[in-house]
Amino acid sequence: MKRHRLTRMTVFVLATACLSCATLCPAQAGAAPSERDYNVKPVPFNQVHVQDGFWTPRLETSRTMTIPYCFEKCEETDRISNYEKAAGLKEGKHEGIYFNDSDVYKVMEGAAYSLQVHPETMMRLYLEKLIAIMAGAQWEDGYLYTFYSIPERQPQMRWTDIAGKHEQYCVGHMYEAAVAHYQVTGEKAFLDIATRNADLICDVFNAGRRTDPPGHQEIEIGLCKLYRATGDAKYLDQAKFFLDQRGRLGNRGPDGKGGLYGWYSQDHKPVVEQTEALGHSVRAAYLYTGMADVAALTGSMEYVRAIDAIWKDVVDTKLYITGGNGAAGGHEGFGGRYELPNMRAYCETCASIANIFWNHRMFLMHGDAKYIDVLERVLYNAALSGISMEGDRFFYPNPLESIGQHARSPWFGCACCPSNVARFIPSVPGYTYAHKDGDVYVNLFISGTATVETVGNKITLTQKTGYPWQDGIHIAVEPKKQQQFTLFVRIPGWARNEPVPSDLYRFQRPNKEEPSLNVNGETVKIDLKNGFAAIDRTWKAGDTVDLRLPMPVRRVIAHENIVDDRGKVALQVGPIVFCLEAPDNDGEVLNLMIPDDAVLRTRFRRDLLGGVMTIAGKASLTKRTLDGGIVPAGTKPFTAIPYYAWAHRGRGQMTVWPARKPEAARPEPADTLTYTSKTTASFVHASLDAIKDQIVPENSGDSSNLQLDFWPHKGTTEWIQFEWGERHELSSVQVYWFDDTGRGECHLPKAWRVLYRTSRGDFQPVKNSMPYETEKDTFNKVGFEPVRTDALKVEITLQDRWSAGVQEVVIK
Ligand SMILES: [Zn+2]
Repeated sequence: MKRHRLTRMTVFVLATACLSCATLCPAQAGAAPSERDYNVKPVPFNQVHVQDGFWTPRLETSRTMTIPYCFEKCEETDRISNYEKAAGLKEGKHEGIYFNDSDVYKVMEGAAYSLQVHPETMMRLYLEKLIAIMAGAQWEDGYLYTFYSIPERQPQMRWTDIAGKHEQYCVGHMYEAAVAHYQVTGEKAFLDIATRNADLICDVFNAGRRTDPPGHQEIEIGLCKLYRATGDAKYLDQAKFFLDQRGRLGNRGPDGKGGLYGWYSQDHKPVVEQTEALGHSVRAAYLYTGMADVAALTGSMEYVRAIDAIWKDVVDTKLYITGGNGAAGGHEGFGGRYELPNMRAYCETCASIANIFWNHRMFLMHGDAKYIDVLERVLYNAALSGISMEGDRFFYPNPLESIGQHARSPWFGCACCPSNVARFIPSVPGYTYAHKDGDVYVNLFISGTATVETVGNKITLTQKTGYPWQDGIHIAVEPKKQQQFTLFVRIPGWARNEPVPSDLYRFQRPNKEEPSLNVNGETVKIDLKNGFAAIDRTWKAGDTVDLRLPMPVRRVIAHENIVDDRGKVALQVGPIVFCLEAPDNDGEVLNLMIPDDAVLRTRFRRDLLGGVMTIAGKASLTKRTLDGGIVPAGTKPFTAIPYYAWAHRGRGQMTVWPARKPEAARPEPADTLTYTSKTTASFVHASLDAIKDQIVPENSGDSSNLQLDFWPHKGTTEWIQFEWGERHELSSVQVYWFDDTGRGECHLPKAWRVLYRTSRGDFQPVKNSMPYETEKDTFNKVGFEPVRTDALKVEITLQDRWSAGVQEVVIK
């Protein structure tokens, strides 16, 4: 594995290094302010030593590539120099988006986690340097936000745009990073910055002064962590205050409810009255996570009732099969019930990570495996898709279908997703185990050794498994002293014929082979409790548990109300959701149909995409007929790969939901004159094939199936030419224009005309019998005196200051 070179960062650190061989303190539990917290306690990630075929490479990539890479990007994009300027170390104005501080904190949080597992002097010193700059940028009263600090401090500006400027969102991430740094290093410098800032927040936002809730939730989670780390109850009170302010202020409706920011920010009603997942999905899942934390720490059941209802709403109607959520790009958030489009799926990487946080808390609260079922689905599918296997390319939205318009990016102007991945991946081991009252939970199947400190005992668990590719899990149980307790081993929903804990998806056929469990080599009956096999016995060193979770290929069918998945099937093996991608299938997958009786076989391919399971079978090709029907047209072998591994081999078609019925496929177009022509154009942006795909757009602005446009050409005369091997008698052309006014620079053209190739070989205009129309959202038909020709040209003159494009062309 290539190690990312910390070029600038290395120089930066070495120039200031005075400590050379600092060693890390052991993890500190932090003060224990109160006995009240989650019923179930997670085993912290630093107590879980992963040695796993699937996860070790990812943790290593995160440490050696993603985290240093994200720091370099933070430097390159002036995120770090904003702090230097705010600290008076550099001149200049603020660069980038106002909430860019948050990205730096998130990468620092990830770096702290990574340090815990792999002490690295260089990384530790780099963090110290950043913390020193941040201390310099912090105002005397604790305020820290670079956007209002450069070129000079603007006290009159702060807190003036709580809804839009995300000051509290940024410092919420700071609190999380500071607590992580403190717990890993035992040093208080960063924690002191955080608490001084939090003290200011407590002073400014309270019942006597400012009562507006944060515009973008996150600080609630940070404050709870600060409370746990310091024992100071005012931080918990502040988190609760922020939750309780939501939905109470502003334009009250007749019912006396209604908030400042509306449903987009979950501010439409008090949080304890909310029952539906609405609005921006990252804000939402951070809110629900914060509600869970405050509920656990205060014992307030009102929050629990609300998030239980909201969770059910998500799992019943708003969860993608990949575990992603957020169907609508417009508000980066939840769509309506059962609104789960595939190509337009938003499924922001941050929303997946936030959903994992939330589901983990739900498990800690209720002790039910169904939350881990959802967590696992998100983890292995939607979340992992967010980062490339090399660790330096990222998805913001994670669509479930593509015609080649999607690719991971090296970075984004709004870089919330890369920085979130940087902090999330190192924390994955922390989701594996938990304990409660002496009992131990095995939630995830990851090879390695964990130390679980329960009441009066210390239990070492060693897992050996080839999960998620292999069905066997071996667990060696080694309690320090012989003791009776229950080992709860999760039997995943997918192994119990339940893809999700709702009827949103179902397996087409039950798997008749059931999970099996052995203790010390003896088969035991699975005593299922809340989704766990409960093994209650007196455990002693040397005891072993062997679980087998049969992993045949499963066909998943979506609830009939999900329009986009009708007539389609998803493939799953173990927890992994598969997709069909162009490189394994001769470039096209959307025209394929997998019949219900197709035999499907798995094969592990060590050589492919870092080593993945593949599914192979025979698919039917589909073709549109001239009368608009869709028919099977031969068969071809297909290969499916894990969804998380797509988009590593260039752009192209991909689908998680291939058709199982012909009408659900995107068939090969019918043999129309347009489709059978050799088509060329003066210039191609987007897709030349799009003009003959025979998919009529919803309107001129609909680019979901791509279009041919001439952007960035403006004011030019362009052409599209259609040629045939023989002459045809032609008398009309219809053009559906592309126009993305408001979004892009393509407008309707200034003029257009049709020319045909004469028998002499030159092009002459046709004699049109009707005007050349340029109307939006419809076909513009021109009829003309019939011509016999082997080539036709559509000539398009663009408006002087605008480009233009074409959705579809029909020639008759
Ligand atoms: Zn994001």
